[in-house]
Parts: sequence; structure tokens; C-alpha cells
Amino acid sequence: MVSLTPWLSMPPWAGSLPWTEAVVLVMAFVWGATLGSFVNVVAYRVPRGESVVTGSSRCPACGVAIRPRDNIPVVGWLLLGGRCRSCRSPISSRYILVEAVCGLIAAAVAAAELVDGRSLPWLAPASGQTLDRMLMHHDLRPLAAWALHACMLIMLVARSLLGEGHAGGRAARIAVLLILLATVALPSIGPPGMDPAGGPWPESPRLRAATACLAGSAAGWLLARMTAAANAGSLAVLGAAVGWQTVTVVAVVTAIVRSLGSRATRRPGAWFDPLPAVATAAIVCWRPIRTACMLAWP
Ligand SMILES: [Zn+2]
Repeated sequence: MVSLTPWLSMPPWAGSLPWTEAVVLVMAFVWGATLGSFVNVVAYRVPRGESVVTGSSRCPACGVAIRPRDNIPVVGWLLLGGRCRSCRSPISSRYILVEAVCGLIAAAVAAAELVDGRSLPWLAPASGQTLDRMLMHHDLRPLAAWALHACMLIMLVARSLLGEGHAGGRAARIAVLLILLATVALPSIGPPGMDPAGGPWPESPRLRAATACLAGSAAGWLLARMTAAANAGSLAVLGAAVGWQTVTVVAVVTAIVRSLGSRATRRPGAWFDPLPAVATAAIVCWRPIRTACMLAWP
């Protein structure tokens, strides 16, 4: 990654173009779309009781194994024109849609946290030099924060595709535990610690981060029970990663969007799950919204 910088600054006409930023966003999209391709496998196989690890992907109509190059996220579906290579039966557009959405989520979080440097935890000062810090000074904490948030959001997409019946409380508990371990290892990527520093909260940054992570997870779980915004596991995972402040806003907005949506379509519950979109918007836009609020009500 460090060697990218001299190579990218080589073409003289490209001096004014933000090449590093563009490469970072494209790489983030490809990485997210690849995870989205795995989300498709999970959403197809888990309800059928099949393993998500073993066995190659097959066409549901003719059973022929899908070739690796047809399995490239987004591109594979486009090159095939949305049809199976051997039997020409149509492949659902949901596959390319899920891959593109997961790619866009990863790229949007990268734009906010890696390019713009306005990452959660939202109490940390903003920095416009996040990419420089990563490339020149090998500070990989923004990359870790981005990976944590993008993985967590893509997991929310998978959970909303599986629906209530296969929501998987065990997967949510494992995810909360992994987020807790990541937060204890790197306190600056987790939810904001309980301020003020000298309050009743632990002095050690690791303990403070762990407390904030568990408090966020518990808040998400309780909010899911209270608002019916999403299933308890999904909000518990979100709360562990972003803290009780953000998960509260996301739960309330999601509940409102959900009730407006089911009123408009007259299909309670069957409407699409707004949680991944609202959670992504909260992570990407938290700092600008907070700045706007502070300008309006100083
Ligand atoms: Zn086929």
C-alpha cells in the first residue's frame, strides 16, 4: 500500500487529480462487492439448511457449477446479461443489486472515514490527512475503523435479507464479541468512551472502550424491544460498534421510516428493511449533522 504513492504521482498531467482517493474508493467498492457476493450465498443457502463454506455455487435451474469468472461481483452478472451461461435461464437481479449495495456501503464509509477523515468515534477531532497518515506514517487505525464499520453494515444487509425467521441470535452474539475484542485491542476504533474522562467511568482507555461497546450493545437490544425498528440482534451489533448515542438515533429513524413505508405500501413488515441504509447514513453523515446542530444551537 505504501508503494502506491510514488506510482500514483508519476503522470504529470494527473497531478491535480485525486488519484489516491479514487483508487481507495474503487478498492473499497470491490472489497464490499466481494463481501456482497458472499452475502448472496448466505441468503440463498442458510434458509435451505445448506453449508455456506463448502460446496461450489450452482445454477438453481440446471445445476451446472458457476465458473469463477462468471462469479466476479457485479461484472459477472453484467457480462452474462443476467442469464445462466449453460441453460440461459434468468438469474435474479437481486444478486447484482446486493453486490452493488454492499460495494457502495464500503465505498461510502471509506469516503467518510479514509478520504475525509471524519470517522466515528465522533468525539475525536476531524483530520483531512487520514490517507497521508495511513500511507506515510503507517497509521492503520482508520483502516481498522473502516473495516469494522463496513463489515458490520454488510452483516446488517445479510441479516435483513434473511429476515426474522433466520435472524440468527448466535451470529449476532459472536459479532458483538468480535467487536468487543477489536475495541479492546484498538480503543480508538470503537464507540466513543464514556465522557467526561474523570467521571465514574474506568480510567483505562481499553476499559472505557469496552464499557462503551457493551453499553451500546445493551442500548441497541433494548431499543429493538421498545421501538420494533429491527430485530434485537441487529441493533445490538450496531450499538456495539457505534455506541448508544448513534444506535438511539438510528433506531428511532428506522422505526419512523418503517412505519411510513408500511403505511404507504399497506404491507406491514413485508416492506424492505431500512436499517442498513439508515445505519450507513448515520456513520457517513454523523459529523456533518453534529456540526450543523452545533452551528444552529451553539
Ligand atoms: Zn443454468
